[in-house]
Amino acid sequence: MRPSLIVHGGAWDIPDEAAEACTAGCQRALVAGWAVLAGGGTALDAIEAAIVVLEDDPVFDAGYGSHLNLDGRVECDAIVMDGATLRAGAAATLHRVKNPIRAARAILEKCPHMMLVAEGAERFAQENGVALCKAEELVSEAEWDAWMKCKKDAHAAEHHRGHEQGTVGAVALDYEGRLFAATSTGGTCCKLPGRVGDSPLIGCGCYADAEAGGVSCTGYGEAIMKVVMAKSATDYLRGQDSAAAHTEDGRGSSGAMLAAKRAVDLLAARTAGTGGLILLDRNGEPGFAFNTPRMAYGYVEAGGTFITSVG
Ligand code: ASP
Repeated sequence: MRPSLIVHGGAWDIPDEAAEACTAGCQRALVAGWAVLAGGGTALDAIEAAIVVLEDDPVFDAGYGSHLNLDGRVECDAIVMDGATLRAGAAATLHRVKNPIRAARAILEKCPHMMLVAEGAERFAQENGVALCKAEELVSEAEWDAWMKCKKDAHAAEHHRGHEQGTVGAVALDYEGRLFAATSTGGTCCKLPGRVGDSPLIGCGCYADAEAGGVSCTGYGEAIMKVVMAKSATDYLRGQDSAAAHTEDGRGSSGAMLAAKRAVDLLAARTAGTGGLILLDRNGEPGFAFNTPRMAYGYVEAGGTFITSVG
């Protein structure tokens, strides 16, 4: 099976001054993930490598530099899902995990449950070798400044000008045909403590089924949850296989792009919400769509060329 990789760094109104940093971050994530896949590594290792790069980059809303909640704390959610087994590992409301994707992976691989939250998730992560950090270490200067402005006034997009970020995600398919998808986020700025959005919820912010494809979403969590967007996109992919075969040029990629678009159209039609998603179909064909002004994303073309864009 030809390996494939797609990543995103969120779908919002990414301002011009942040576009270059978002593109560069997606490029670095592709480099890290592709090194694993090209070397014959697993899709799970590739996903982790790509997401760690994005979590460590403060231009994105995941791990270090995440948006702060109403209490001024970073509160992260993450999920990784295995398309072969339909098993997910998810963690929510983490305060002390530097790389939430690693906590999600530990839950996927070592936990009898599929989702843990808060202190219990952190304890499980630590007991399974995932490094914890001090909660303050996840707070970037830019996010602290934005939070102070939001606190004085009211939460407003202008307070985040230049560093409006998004959730991150990745989907990978390896030589052995293993398919994994993952999403990691700090959630929305000034969210109520304890709020969990779509990102770590199976079927909402992420889904993977080796029979159809893998998906990672971004955007307004409360809307994405309503239409279970990642699972909806996967279902559209299932239907698209045959549809793609009937397109004029017969290219499978049109099916992947069409499925992504249909899922975002569903979000708009049923919730009036905004967001976006990336996906790979079961053969590794990339697709993406968004109805926000922009989304940061990147994927590796069949010939090995890296495509990144804040489109
Ligand atoms: N979907 C995320 C959430 O609602 C936010 C994002 O994608 O930027 O928590």
